[in-house]
Amino acid sequence: MNGVDRRTERAGWRIEISRACLRSGICAASAPRHFTVGADHRTRPVEGPVEPDPVLLDLVEACPAGAISLTHQDTGRAVTARPEETTDERGK
Ligand code: SF4
Repeated sequence: MNGVDRRTERAGWRIEISRACLRSGICAASAPRHFTVGADHRTRPVEGPVEPDPVLLDLVEACPAGAISLTHQDTGRAVTARPEETTDERGK
């Protein structure tokens, strides 16, 4: 037990795409409600937090550049496929 309130962590996720993005469009094609492709062909996540969605966890794994990251809206902790592996910036 690490003292993290799992109910709070499930409140919402934030999606980020790093500069490593290859603009493959896989994420936008797979989950258009979470990603958009602009006129500049750059893929961007939707604004603001999103409801937790297992599809996003799959896309983190599927992204060929490892460019997608998910964090819990309230805690800033990384979202992983296995909640027990969540970490904050200090790795705790
Ligand atoms: S799947 Fe990854 S590399 Fe492809 S557009 Fe999305 S973030 Fe970029």
